[in-house]
Amino acid sequence: MSHSLFHENVTTCEECDHVNSIPPLKGGDRFRCQHCGHILISVHKHVSARILGVGLSSLLMLALAMSFSFLGFSSNGIDRTVSLFQTLSVLLGLGHLVLGAIISLALFVFPIVYLSSALFLVWSFQNKYVLKSAQRYCVRWIIVLQPWLMVDVFLVGILVALVKVNSLADISLELSFWAFCGYVLLLLKTVTLIDKRWLWNKVAGQATEHEVEQGTAKKQNLIGCHFCGATLSRDAHHCDRCGHSVHSRRPNSLMTTSALLIASLVMYIPANVFPIMQTTFLGSTEPSTIMGGVLLLWTLESYPVALIILFASVVIPIAKMLALAWLCWQCCYPSQRLTKQKIKLYKMTELVGRWSMIDVFVVAILTSLVQMGNLVSIFPGPAVLSFTAVIVFTMLAAMSFDPRLLWDKDDGPKAASLEGEKVE
Ligand SMILES: [Zn+2]
Ligand SMILES: [Zn+2]
Repeated sequence: MSHSLFHENVTTCEECDHVNSIPPLKGGDRFRCQHCGHILISVHKHVSARILGVGLSSLLMLALAMSFSFLGFSSNGIDRTVSLFQTLSVLLGLGHLVLGAIISLALFVFPIVYLSSALFLVWSFQNKYVLKSAQRYCVRWIIVLQPWLMVDVFLVGILVALVKVNSLADISLELSFWAFCGYVLLLLKTVTLIDKRWLWNKVAGQATEHEVEQGTAKKQNLIGCHFCGATLSRDAHHCDRCGHSVHSRRPNSLMTTSALLIASLVMYIPANVFPIMQTTFLGSTEPSTIMGGVLLLWTLESYPVALIILFASVVIPIAKMLALAWLCWQCCYPSQRLTKQKIKLYKMTELVGRWSMIDVFVVAILTSLVQMGNLVSIFPGPAVLSFTAVIVFTMLAAMSFDPRLLWDKDDGPKAASLEGEKVE
């Protein structure tokens, strides 16, 4: 006799608002939205045991990465090694509090809260005396923090930093660096193992069942909770399963997204005009802007790294702002054409946005590593903070956009399937 992993029979897609019936699922199964193809549920085999193993190993690797020296630096006969902890204390000691705070949140605080919440949850599933409210808090933390885990971006940042200072000094990768690589890989694996619908199903069980048919929740006078996937009645203000506030369409979504886009566009100007990094070499200080850094790498023939920085710092933020602005425009004048492609574009903007942080991390790494007074030193320029604001604002803009608006003039599965065939 086979049991489904899920108690509930229906779930509403957060991308297109369609109500889906959940078939019986077992470990290793994936379930996609029948209308837009978005993956709604992906539960791995022996998922609890795997989260426990991978999550614990990830924390262990972090402890190792904090214990030994991280990177070594030698220039003109002077050697220097820094630990991961020192990279932070140098930034704080130089008075770059915001940069230090960004690094500690992205590298340590968010991942540690994320991993410990996941481990606590998996442990609590075996333990019936655990408070349900504690479990709910943990699931909320996991969902909210996931887009802000940036350890993989930091790792790429380290590699870019190595190429950037190649002409000034020799950099060596120490023991902790390899432990840090393990930490990053294991954390990414933990993220892929965690499924929000599975967690809510385990923690809060079944939501109130409603009579449903094919089509969007809105047309059936229902609301889909975008936080847990529950299907609720139209007059609900809060989800009776996860407790999150619910709306048929996020209120003022387009207005919020547009305001955040304008804010990021405004910040983009100082981010490119002012220097992002200042290098002191043998007494003379030279500032460099984002584009200046790309051009310098290009003249030094580090083409791949120049292209990485060009894409991450220039192309991605601009493309993301343009894409979101176009999607907002499309919601004001909706058409039935190309909705699936628009959703793909939206998912892409959500996915790539955080990679723009590479340059900020590169500056932070170089600042903490290259500190030898007048001989050679690197400091962050004023553009670092405005550039970070650009990335954070565009990420928030993507999050506040409600993709369900794109489907609102769509007539449901019939129109979607006719899309390809209709020739006029
Ligand atoms: Zn969907
Ligand atoms: Zn909910």
